[in-house]
Amino acid sequence: MALIVQKFGGTSVGSVERIRSVARRVAKWRAAGHDLVVVPSAMAGETNRLIALAHELQPHPDARELDVVAATGEQVSVGLLAMALIELGVQARSYAGWQVKVLTDSSHGKARIVAIDGERLRNDLAEGRVVVVAGYQGVDAKGNVTTLGRGGSDTSAVALAAALEADECQIFTDVDGVYTADPRIVPEARRLHTVTFEEMLEMASAGSKVLQIRSVEFAGKYRVPTRVLSSLTDPAMAVDEEAQSGTLITFEEDPHMAMEKAVVSGVAAQRDEAKITVPGVPDKPGIAYAILGPIADANIDVDMIVQNVSHDGMTDLSFTVHRNDYPRAMKILKGQVQPHIKCRDVTGDERIAKVSIVGLGMRSHAGTAAKMFRTLAEEGINIQMISTSEIKISVVIEEKYAELAVRVLHKVFELDQE
Ligand code: ADP
Ligand code: ASP
Ligand code: MG
Repeated sequence: MALIVQKFGGTSVGSVERIRSVARRVAKWRAAGHDLVVVPSAMAGETNRLIALAHELQPHPDARELDVVAATGEQVSVGLLAMALIELGVQARSYAGWQVKVLTDSSHGKARIVAIDGERLRNDLAEGRVVVVAGYQGVDAKGNVTTLGRGGSDTSAVALAAALEADECQIFTDVDGVYTADPRIVPEARRLHTVTFEEMLEMASAGSKVLQIRSVEFAGKYRVPTRVLSSLTDPAMAVDEEAQSGTLITFEEDPHMAMEKAVVSGVAAQRDEAKITVPGVPDKPGIAYAILGPIADANIDVDMIVQNVSHDGMTDLSFTVHRNDYPRAMKILKGQVQPHIKCRDVTGDERIAKVSIVGLGMRSHAGTAAKMFRTLAEEGINIQMISTSEIKISVVIEEKYAELAVRVLHKVFELDQE
């Protein structure tokens, strides 16, 4: 008998019929003797609908109140799913994040989980109940409702699995695993049977939204065995078969396998970033800090940063931020930073995309970057920024070329072939 956390995404609980199907799947695992904590997302489209309602009332919704509204989607799902389970004769009880409680910091809209009190859940499990916990939400030290950022139910599930020392966290979604690229963009993409934690982390940060990056960070930090699998298969599928399906995130890297591994194991695109350039700043100590310090103080995450070589003592600094943070970042730069450092201008571009290739095999292969750049050049795609890690190369390009870039890179690195 194992303790398993099962997360079901928005599409998987998108209708009453789908919720019934999830309940049947959960009931099957329960009947096989497992203890289960189930974490549903809001029904498909619901979080978007709630956020849009807030925007109708306030162009820039109050962050605290927006979380109060956005968190309700998951509260509906947990109640409905618990009802569906009870209807099948399975003892079940639902909880909102604050009831558990899932304690977070106070960064509304992108809160981080600080601690989870597992006692209430453990008591329910000991009494034979399936526990259904709302994803995406928590509560801060002052009792305010918080949300964890879009896609945050993945993180709720993995964090619960870590806190309860679960044997496995199963992320059920509308694809049957992690693919070499988003199968919606590249139909030839292949499912990976396993993916190393490091590669998954890079793929998530590169825009493979199949897992929210923070969930992968949790999985790595607490070594939570995590599997991505499909919720659209027959719910009556044998438990043993289901337990082996999908993509498993692995932590042990077999050096022989790494040598033989394809150079690139995945391609990803991220379209929700924006580029900001501060041109003509004096090239002297402290300038990057003068620009990026106030951005960090405003709790805005910066992704890629590029500084040009100096000309006549002047340089340009470009960086990317999440599009949600773009208006705020521009306001800080124009209002606070520009008068202080006396730069010529601050310019921004929201129509960019980041395209990345990821693979452990890059460590032992030279020439991967050149091949990537040549392929993009042949398509007439201009590279605006470049950043690399040991196992990832990312470029910023014009947004309209994102899908084309993903497809040609997937092909040139032969990811469509076994
Ligand atoms: P959920 O609502 O279940 O959380 P998401 O929409 O957040 O589902 O994530 C699943 C989607 O992620 C898939 O439908 C797929 O289009 C997309 N995706 C992006 N990159 C990948 C990838 N490399 N492998 C699998 N799916 C991917
Ligand atoms: N419902 C939230 C969202 O749409 C969280 C999630 O689905 O993981 O972003
Ligand atoms: Mg998701």
